[in-house]
Amino acid sequence: MEQQTFEHQFEIEGIGLHSGQPSVLTFKPSEPDTGIVFARDGVRIPALFSNVSDTRNCTCLSKDGGTASTIEHLMSALYIAGVDNVLIECSNAELPILDGSAELLLKKMKQVGVKKQKAEKKFLKVLKPVSFEDEKGAFVRLNPRKEHGLHIRFEIDFPSPVVGYQLFDEDITEELFEKQIAPARTFCEKSQIDYLKSVGLIKGGSLENAVVLDGEKILNPGGFKVEKECVCHKVLDLIGDLYTSGYSMIADVEAFKSGHRHNNEVLKKLFESCENYEIL
Ligand SMILES: [Zn+2]
Repeated sequence: MEQQTFEHQFEIEGIGLHSGQPSVLTFKPSEPDTGIVFARDGVRIPALFSNVSDTRNCTCLSKDGGTASTIEHLMSALYIAGVDNVLIECSNAELPILDGSAELLLKKMKQVGVKKQKAEKKFLKVLKPVSFEDEKGAFVRLNPRKEHGLHIRFEIDFPSPVVGYQLFDEDITEELFEKQIAPARTFCEKSQIDYLKSVGLIKGGSLENAVVLDGEKILNPGGFKVEKECVCHKVLDLIGDLYTSGYSMIADVEAFKSGHRHNNEVLKKLFESCENYEIL
C-alpha cells in the first residue's frame, strides 16, 4: 500500500469558533514521508502528539511560537481519506469550525481526490495494552488487534436526558465514517456556552456549528442529525487525535467518558516504550 497526498491544491474557509474571525486553510500536496504539517506565521508544525500544547476544549498544536488549534475534526477526515502527506497553511490560529462536524471537510477532500506516491504507507500496530485513566475513572485504552485497522468501543454517560448513556462499538470503515461519524457535530450544554460567552470566548459559536443541550431539550431546531450523535462525535475526535501518532493505527480502542487530554496522554504512554508497538 502506497502513501497518498491530494491531487492538487485547494482551500477551505470558515470562521474560528472562539475568535469569530475568518479562517482559510490552504491544502498543498507534499512529498512522501513528510506527514501532516500545519504552517502558521512562517512556522511549520507537524501534527504530532508531541506538539500538542492544549487539550481543554479542543486539540491545539504549538511549536516555536506558531499555533494551530481545533485540529481534531480535520485530522479525522485526513485519516479516513487515507492522506499521509499534506502541508496545510492556516490564515488564522483557529481552524474553521464549519458546522462542528467533519462532513464538509471530508466531502471537499473526496471531491479533490488523492494520488498514490512512490513510498510505502506505514502503520503503527499496538503490541501491548496501554491506557490512560484520570482521577474520575474516565479512560482510553489501546489494545492489540488481530485484524487490520481500528475498532473503537466508546461509552459516554451524560446527565442530560437527551444524551444519557450511549455506546458505540464498531470497526471503523470508510462507509461507516461517512454515514455516521463525519456528520456528528460538537455538542455542549447551554450553561457552558453562557459562561464561555461571558469570558469573551466562542464569539463564532451558534446553533450553526454545535448541538446545544438545555436540560431535557435540544435547542437546534432540526434536532440530532445522526443516531447517537454525541458518542459518534467523541469517536470522530478520538480518531483525529489518534492520527497525531503520525501513523494509521492498528488497534482495538476502548474509551470511557474520555476526551482530548486522555487521547494525548495515552499516545505519550504508547511511545514511552518501543515494546508497546511496531511500525509496519
Ligand atoms: Zn470535536
